[in-house]
Amino acid sequence: MTADEIRSQFRAFVGEERFRGFIFSTVNSLGTDFVPLCSHEVWRSFREECPAAPIQPEGIRGMLLWCHVHERPLLIDQLSNPTLDAATLATITHSSRTSEWYEAAERSFPHGHGGLDVVCPECVAAHLKWLAAHPRWNEP
Ligand SMILES: [Zn+2]
Repeated sequence: MTADEIRSQFRAFVGEERFRGFIFSTVNSLGTDFVPLCSHEVWRSFREECPAAPIQPEGIRGMLLWCHVHERPLLIDQLSNPTLDAATLATITHSSRTSEWYEAAERSFPHGHGGLDVVCPECVAAHLKWLAAHPRWNEP
């Protein structure tokens, strides 16, 4: 069973909304020893159904550092080892936040703004495209 198959099975097991919640809590726990799903009851139940699922925190964390919009792994540690240039980083970090922006971010670029320890390059591209199409949201 591949990591992708385990992730898909877990996603179906908990449902889309909880799956996203576990992704965001995993992203937010980076830099700490805590892996939210690790000792969670839902993970124990899932492992009874899917014995191939990882037990080690690193394996669980690796499985959940995932962009659910673009279906690809997230890149870690952009600030100390950036794959994005400084201007792009500044643009996506400092874009103005309105309710319309939040809706677009949740729908189209959940991992392409704000805390840039972790990014999805396709989210960043979608964010830049959205800003270009909405110039007044990109004023300082
Ligand atoms: Zn993405």
